[in-house]
Amino acid sequence: MSNLEQTLSIIKPDAVERNLQEEIKKNFIENNFIIKKEKKIQISKSEAEDFYKVHQSKPFYNELCNYLSSGPIIVMILEKESAVKENRKLMGATDPTKAEEGTLRKKYGISIDKNSVHGSDSIENAKIEIEFFFKF
Ligand code: UDP
Ligand code: MG
Repeated sequence: MSNLEQTLSIIKPDAVERNLQEEIKKNFIENNFIIKKEKKIQISKSEAEDFYKVHQSKPFYNELCNYLSSGPIIVMILEKESAVKENRKLMGATDPTKAEEGTLRKKYGISIDKNSVHGSDSIENAKIEIEFFFKF
């Protein structure tokens, strides 16, 4: 039975700034994700606030939105069987110091805020996030 899903991935400013995008994309491809769409953009603070609105009550919200809008990012639609869960597994824990060996955040993350990648956390949110970045 096929369970093909799409999820939204972001290569965050800290990784783009270090020119890690090709290296990170190689990890997705080696793990059998198909990059269906991809673009390099820089978003405004208000777009970042909209994207991360679920976190608006958190103490780190303002810094998070400043950060995501601070430089270019790569947004991608990734496709694979169970893509949402598989991408979260490949990314590792939010805090790179707690992320498992071999995960993207362990390999590339600098800190809990500069953790190099974003991935949708549910199928429902994947749809919303894909629509957010790839509506046309
Ligand atoms: N974040 C932060 N400080 C924290 C927790 C999270 O700066 O204490 C940032 C971090 O960049 C994280 C993002 O907020 O990736 C969204 O947080 P979430 O809990 O949704 O983590 P994720 O789903 O990205 O693993
Ligand atoms: Mg999250």
